[in-house]
Amino acid sequence: MALYQRWRRLRLQGLQACRLHTAVVSTPPRRLAERLGLFEELWAAQVKRLASMAQKEPRTIKISLPGDQKIDAVAWNTTPYQLARQISSTLADTAVAAQVNGEPYDLERPLETDSDLRFLTFDSPEGKAVFWHSSTHVLGAAAEQFLGAVLCRGPSTEYGFYHDFFLGKERCGTLVDLCQGPHLRHTGQIGGLKLLSNSSSLWRSSGAPETLQRVSGISFPTTELLRAWEAWREEAELRDHRRIGKEQELFFFHELSPGSCFFLPRGTRVYNALVAFIRAEYARRGFSEVKTPTLFSTKLWEQSGHWEHYQEDMFAVQPPGSDRPPSSQSDDSTRHITDTLALKPMNCPAHCLMFAHRPRSWRELPLRLADFGALHRAEASGSLRGLTRLRCFQQDDAHIFCTTDQLEAEIQSCLDFLRSVYAVLGFSFRLALSTRPSGFLGDPCLWDQAEQVLKQALKEFGEPWDLNSGDGAFYGPKIDVHLHDALGRPHQCGTIQLDFQLPLRFDLQYKGQAGALERPVLIHRAVLGSVERLLGVLAESCGGKWPLWLSPFQVVVIPVGTEQEEYAREAQQSLQAAGLVSDLDADSGLTLSRRIRQAQLAHYNFQFVVGQKEQSKRTVNIRTRDNRRLGEWDLPEAVQRLVELQNTRVPNAEEIF
Ligand code: ZN
Repeated sequence: MALYQRWRRLRLQGLQACRLHTAVVSTPPRRLAERLGLFEELWAAQVKRLASMAQKEPRTIKISLPGDQKIDAVAWNTTPYQLARQISSTLADTAVAAQVNGEPYDLERPLETDSDLRFLTFDSPEGKAVFWHSSTHVLGAAAEQFLGAVLCRGPSTEYGFYHDFFLGKERCGTLVDLCQGPHLRHTGQIGGLKLLSNSSSLWRSSGAPETLQRVSGISFPTTELLRAWEAWREEAELRDHRRIGKEQELFFFHELSPGSCFFLPRGTRVYNALVAFIRAEYARRGFSEVKTPTLFSTKLWEQSGHWEHYQEDMFAVQPPGSDRPPSSQSDDSTRHITDTLALKPMNCPAHCLMFAHRPRSWRELPLRLADFGALHRAEASGSLRGLTRLRCFQQDDAHIFCTTDQLEAEIQSCLDFLRSVYAVLGFSFRLALSTRPSGFLGDPCLWDQAEQVLKQALKEFGEPWDLNSGDGAFYGPKIDVHLHDALGRPHQCGTIQLDFQLPLRFDLQYKGQAGALERPVLIHRAVLGSVERLLGVLAESCGGKWPLWLSPFQVVVIPVGTEQEEYAREAQQSLQAAGLVSDLDADSGLTLSRRIRQAQLAHYNFQFVVGQKEQSKRTVNIRTRDNRRLGEWDLPEAVQRLVELQNTRVPNAEEIF
């Protein structure tokens, strides 16, 4: 209510000065006036009711505060705000709301009976949630008044709040205009609140109608807090820029390739090192790598069920010469459907074709097919996010075709695969088993049996796991993997999923030991998930300090003077020949110590310094990016040691060199 009182006096100068103003509707919709009228009526009735209650029963009630403090109050009269003032003026100034018997309570709502009372300040997560929830209403009110928006969802989130609006088709460009420019922010003084909308988080809601817009923001109860936050953010941006500046040498996005990413030579090196790691694991674990087409007739997707369930997320392609546009109606005409092609969003149907292209025997099982093929998914433009959500990406995708008897051992080895890869990447993880949902397809006995097998495998694996009852896919139960990066942030990357439907749809069979034809079970599994996404997680997680085996900046050779340049180039070339990423810093315009410092700031894992002495003895003087001095080494020995450390994929090559 208090917020409402402030809100009614809104003038929104800040907003009027910004570009939102261009979208002001001349007359606010009538429903706003009607709603406000109704509110005034109810508000007046409530004020009257409270006054009469206060007169009727002026009795003392006991209010318990945290720390066993008790305080007297008058029922239907004393408000939490008055009590806060009694306790301290700072508390009164910083309290955002109260909690009465565990329920959120407005500061100006009179207490009714004996209660436990707690004040919520902005410092607590609950206080932030209340403040940001109110802020989203303020943002909503502004959008209603000035944009004529129809309000949709507007919750608080962990780091602020957002609001979805429907603005009508013809005006959907207005809010998007706000986010032009990479760091445009705008603040508005709103009824004592500072509201800050953040450009980068303004987006078109994914999966929702195109005209649904989302604005997210963050607001603070005091100007000082806002300033502190802005200062912090500026510093973080500067820091990020520095880091992104380095990452710009790895990959970039271009408006002409929406939803895809360019990997520059150094970025490609990181990418390939990651893929090579998985390939080595595949070789060790009996997987065969295959290549399958990118473009398939929609007939394949009809057979797999994707055309029915997943069509909206697929890119359909019309071959040249066909006159009709791709249509979503599969009953259009047979000719049309044979004409249409679609880019694959996943590899499984292609692997099923591969399994089925000739008769199979039980001796060939388990058959493990791995595929790094490019996948395309038609993500909504607003849901695209850096490397973490792209329209074109690769997965470390593999499918295992096996007998029911082999299932448990296969699941266990999938789990072991996961654990060993995550250990090298420095990720911890948490597993969850999702069992059959209400609309599941297939034989319930088969489901029971499979869920039992998954449980048994998880039990023997020995890591803790959660049960998500009823959360499985309709075609089979699955194990979800949530990994935690070095900063403890969760990401969903890997998955192990059983599938009873695809083997049916593709009529997959093998000749069993007894000679009869049997149906294999299909396991979909990925450890990294999308390689691009995992790279993004890794880049964030290591903050530019890549472990040697993944590093795009492994060694820089620094000659002390121009006389050593030739020897330095020789050293660089022998590093290169050994498959290491090495650069030469021959910029003699800077002092030696400055060049070493620069190389360390650029996170080169190692610096090889060569002076006159090193040149004559054919040695190098080695330092690490943390400025550890490793002393003088014979050049071939140093190269050999680096190769060893790279091949063993140790996380701390600089420490154990
Ligand atoms: Zn699959």
